Amino acid sequence: MAGEKEIKEIYENGMKILEELTSNAHEIQEQMLEEILIRNAGTEYLSRFFVNGQNHKQNFETNVPIVTYEDIKPYIDRIANGETSSILFADPITQFIQSTGTSEGKPKLIPMTSESFEKRMVKPLLVDLVMKKCISGLDQGKSFYLFFVKPEMETPSGLMASLYTTSYFKTQIFKNGLAKFCTSPIDTILCLDNKQSMYCQLLTGLLLRDEVVRMGSSFASVLARSIKFLEDYWKELCSNIRTGYLSDWIADPACRNAMSSIRIRPNPELADLIQQICEDKSWEGIIKELWPEVKCISSIVTGSMSQYIPLLEFYGGGIPLVSPNCGSSEACFGINLKPLSKPFDVSYTILPNMAYFEFLPVNNDGGGKSREFKLRGASATESSESTNETTTVNKPVDLANVKIGLYRYRVGDVLKVTGFYNKSPQFQFVERQNVVLSIDLDKTTEVDLSKAITKAKLVLEPLGIMLTTCSSYADTSLTPGRYVLFWELKMKGSNDLPKLDARIMEECCGIVEESFDFTYKSLRKSGVISALELRVVKHGTFDELMDFYVSKGASISQYKPPCCLKSEEAVKLLNLGMVGTFFSPKTMF
Ligand code: AMP
Repeated sequence: MAGEKEIKEIYENGMKILEELTSNAHEIQEQMLEEILIRNAGTEYLSRFFVNGQNHKQNFETNVPIVTYEDIKPYIDRIANGETSSILFADPITQFIQSTGTSEGKPKLIPMTSESFEKRMVKPLLVDLVMKKCISGLDQGKSFYLFFVKPEMETPSGLMASLYTTSYFKTQIFKNGLAKFCTSPIDTILCLDNKQSMYCQLLTGLLLRDEVVRMGSSFASVLARSIKFLEDYWKELCSNIRTGYLSDWIADPACRNAMSSIRIRPNPELADLIQQICEDKSWEGIIKELWPEVKCISSIVTGSMSQYIPLLEFYGGGIPLVSPNCGSSEACFGINLKPLSKPFDVSYTILPNMAYFEFLPVNNDGGGKSREFKLRGASATESSESTNETTTVNKPVDLANVKIGLYRYRVGDVLKVTGFYNKSPQFQFVERQNVVLSIDLDKTTEVDLSKAITKAKLVLEPLGIMLTTCSSYADTSLTPGRYVLFWELKMKGSNDLPKLDARIMEECCGIVEESFDFTYKSLRKSGVISALELRVVKHGTFDELMDFYVSKGASISQYKPPCCLKSEEAVKLLNLGMVGTFFSPKTMF
């Protein structure tokens, strides 16, 4: 894989390839498992589980436990420290992918062989193909994608560790393939200074506005951030367009060079037009106005990214939002074969040739709280989560045996299997199944919190108030402790702060508490947890939070706003933007 020939092959036969993959999903998974077991039979890790060399598929289920990252971390650390013997894989490890999930506060390192890395590169091509097939006009212009990289890190072994996207943007397959259809010159994408990169990419997107047929980013959070950046910099961008000079603070030589290659010429008419559009108080539909040929906005808007849907719909002014794919640093999961489905209806179809998948069933409301996950295999040590309800033992199922319902990946994501495309399961992204807030016996998950907030914000919508971003933390500095929510609010037609009516805001607090589960309510009733607090912060505060995390090493392109804050500094930062604080009504409990 990786040559021009293969790219051509995918564009010519991609739909046929997809049909074949999904029709033979079960067989492909079987073969994949068999191949993994045979190829890696001699590795230190796998040989432990097949003492008599009986590395058959049949024994896999009983002998090989499902483990967490922490269990294999010692092996990964040895590879990162330079041991070259077959520890986890028979094939040589060529690089590590850094995941946004962390282990002991550091990014997880996922070892890659050249084959496993190359395999993934097919996915963006398939995604592009499906989008072009379903949305007419996408092949008649350029894609204005806002892509970013993060510095790589060298492990003691000399192997590099980087984000998957960073690694991918540096490959020839990207440079010779999709990058050719992007407005951003490759060197502006590869610029390590995110601010200079963002400025140059926006400038190019504006200069080439008539050619842009698709706008996007990997995650919706990045697009939301880019629009905020445009709000802050449109005057300077217009001035660069008017004069034909690039601002001096763009000092990165590769960026300057790349920008000179697109030949910025003085273009006062274009500058006037952009100025006129941006001067409008309301930015409703701004994307459509600035890029009139855009057919879709492509960005992941499912799972925790769904909080950005209202904002992107507002800026998009009716342009369809496409959530194209789903994956993780560990593996690609799937792609959206119906790009035009509404954001909340998006189902991803599993690509069965990307990894060997297993799923853990979860109870109907998506919560893991009431279930114990007793794992199969010789050394299954997973302990039960504390539970008030019946404990049920769940066996993982393979791809061929998933039924419609809710499943959990040990990667941490909850997926709802919604149907099948040929033999391949399709799923909706429910949420990451993490306990995010905990005081005493209460364990509130991301799912619980997001459901509660979705209900509460319904009160604000008729008033024209938008909840743009939110986060939370458990404040245990006082006894009893309480959960605190941070909400960034703005008026629908402008960035103005809404008039905060205490009665309405308190009602929101009440709805959130009302939506939490039995344990929360009983602890609240008995005074072990005190009234929930809602802190409203001004527009732009969450961008400062993103800057804070990026300065600490988070990647801008894979940034997901934390649904719960663990860092005191982050809480302090949000507190600085606070414009109002409200509590649940006393009469609640
Ligand atoms: P990372 O390991 O840093 O690449 O992050 C992977 C995580 O991003 C996944 O485990 C998901 O929680 C989240 N993610 C990836 N794709 C999607 C998607 N399409 N919708 C919602 N969340 C996603």
